[in-house]
Amino acid sequence: MPPQNKHLSDIRGIQTRFLPKLKKLGIETIHDLLFFLPTRYEDFSKIYTIEDLIPNQEATITAEVVSIKSRNTWKRNLYLVEAELQDQTGTIRATWFNQPYIKNILVPGRRANFAGKIIESKKTGEIYLSNPTYELVSDHMRHETRHTGRIIPIYKETKGLTSKGIRFLIQPILKEQIDIPDIIPEAIRKSLGFPNIQEAIHIVHFPDTIEDALLAKRRFAFEDLFLLQLTTLRERMKIAMKKAHTVKEDIPFIKTLLKGLPFELTESQKKSLWEIIKDIERPFPMNRLIEGDVGSGKTVIAGISALLVAKSGLQTAFMAPTEILAQQHYRTLNKLFKNQDVSILLYTGSEAKIRYDAELESILTKQEARRLIENGTASIIIGTHALIQKGVNFKHLAFVIIDEQHRFGVEQRATLEREKEFAPHFLSMTATPIPRTLALTLFGDLDISLINELPKNRKQIITKAIPDNDREKAHEQIHTEIKKGRQAFVICPRIKPSETLSAREEQLLLIKTVTEEYEKLSKYIFKEFSVGMIHGKLSPKEKEQIMKLFAENKIQIIVATSVIEVGVDVPNATIMMIEGADRFGLAQLHQFRGRVGRAEHQSYCFLFSQGNSETTKKRMKAIVEAKNGFELAEYDLRLRGPGEFLGTSQTGMPDIAMKAIQNPDLIKEARALAQKILTANPTLSKYPLLKEKLIQFEKSIHFE
Ligand code: ADP
Ligand code: MG
Repeated sequence: MPPQNKHLSDIRGIQTRFLPKLKKLGIETIHDLLFFLPTRYEDFSKIYTIEDLIPNQEATITAEVVSIKSRNTWKRNLYLVEAELQDQTGTIRATWFNQPYIKNILVPGRRANFAGKIIESKKTGEIYLSNPTYELVSDHMRHETRHTGRIIPIYKETKGLTSKGIRFLIQPILKEQIDIPDIIPEAIRKSLGFPNIQEAIHIVHFPDTIEDALLAKRRFAFEDLFLLQLTTLRERMKIAMKKAHTVKEDIPFIKTLLKGLPFELTESQKKSLWEIIKDIERPFPMNRLIEGDVGSGKTVIAGISALLVAKSGLQTAFMAPTEILAQQHYRTLNKLFKNQDVSILLYTGSEAKIRYDAELESILTKQEARRLIENGTASIIIGTHALIQKGVNFKHLAFVIIDEQHRFGVEQRATLEREKEFAPHFLSMTATPIPRTLALTLFGDLDISLINELPKNRKQIITKAIPDNDREKAHEQIHTEIKKGRQAFVICPRIKPSETLSAREEQLLLIKTVTEEYEKLSKYIFKEFSVGMIHGKLSPKEKEQIMKLFAENKIQIIVATSVIEVGVDVPNATIMMIEGADRFGLAQLHQFRGRVGRAEHQSYCFLFSQGNSETTKKRMKAIVEAKNGFELAEYDLRLRGPGEFLGTSQTGMPDIAMKAIQNPDLIKEARALAQKILTANPTLSKYPLLKEKLIQFEKSIHFE
């Protein structure tokens, strides 16, 4: 076993109490620890004298402890340690909270480096060091400092394991010679001016200058992007070698079909449809992404494409992220194709049914459904993303559609392309606005169709951030709308009051729970209307029942958690009221808002938030002003970087994607170099280390 794969528990000198904490950060081996890169750096390289310190600066001083004492603060029930520090130029106070052991270390007379932020007391105007990192120094020994007096790396921390702790663990390991293979071919590495891997690891954790540190970090970012580009390019090469079923274009049929739709397609819908028609006519697999804002009408394009495939006697798997959406698509296609002779089958965890043709629909057992898919009776098969992974066999699957694609289908494609001679055409759809660079990184192997306009009948949604005392006005407006025949959504952030919060905190936060809100609205505020409730704890059957009643306007108001977030299409709904709006990401809020404004009626989005901070205000302003997802994305990218808008937890966007948006030039470089190396040596046989790593990497993104 290479030494860097050694488990940390086998290393002497690492205390066992740290192991679970390290594990929490995803660190289990020496390799993990060495590749746990700092998120940022603080420059404590210059040692200041006390008289030179200025408020708000981050600084290191070398000083002697004059006195140290501790006390409980009456105000916040905190344990406070306070020390008086002195150097040749003056004295300063340092404070620490809840670290009583400091008194045993920093005894009077000890000399140490102290690094931290200089704070100016609002009351007295005096400056002090707040919660500084410290490190004892002695005059006799030349002491190599780890935590002060230099550039200090800051890591992602976890409870009980600080950046200081992490540095403490890494340093002894770095002292030993560890042989880590460098996967970047030397010629490429040198052409980019990057340090080799050994140097890079040293520098990134213990840099002499910020510039060195950033260059080392850039090397690691490049490494990931390079692997990603190699992966997508190889994927593209693999796909290009597969065959696909061809779907002959039939212009007269398409013309009549379009005439029979309840609306005229927008120009960009037509264009996207045309791009698909051209692609599926070819004998090798299409690999296309439709990107279009919420409500831009992606479903109908996917549906028509599937119908064309069915007309050629071939099958389509149409997958949605949730059962609610799969059911909705089933209803939508049934309506759109009510005069078409096409069989559509719904197959989800809780039910299966088939519509044979315009007249005949029947409920199926799972087994029957699988048989009808296997013998080719069913042409368009609608289900959740699990559809293709659940041992369902198709007679001749020619087309796969994935709706509301956040995970980008890498996994699904891998499943579909299992060793078969024929691969299906592949279409995915997303409302997540993806900047071009990012698209290139993540979908280097995809073609993109853009739907960049909304259907003509739409009115701009009126969005308002509502202060608490105007709540009743908002309720009145909802009354008026429902009286006119419209419907409303009310979104709440959580299902039940949390156990960890005290009743008082709960009240303070004013968390609206779905159940409470439902009671309140159905019994009092909107008691003359029919109100429904939907949340993740309901069974799929119950959810579908409620959505169906809502779609038929038998329920006027639906109170829901974020299960309603993506894709739901009830054009008669015109009000979206969001409680605790500050607790949702902007992309999510935009998705919610996209549930209304889906037809000609004027629609409204009301935002209620408890938070009143500047950030909350700014965010609410952004969502009120941004007219579409792209504007919002741009705003967020500019103001807060990619994390907030395309947050990993929300969209499944990998870390790599984050790095990518921040490094557009690096992506281009990585792509060009990946292309070059693959052209010269498609099997990568000359680069065994790189190849081995690439195989690991591909696995990790397929199964993430
Ligand atoms: P999304 O792109 O968010 O998935 P949908 O496909 O659900 O949007 O379409 C939103 C609504 O707009 C649906 O009710 C659909 O019937 C309607 N729609 C789609 N295209 C048009 C169009 N060209 N003109 C008018 N309405 C349309
Ligand atoms: Mg949709």
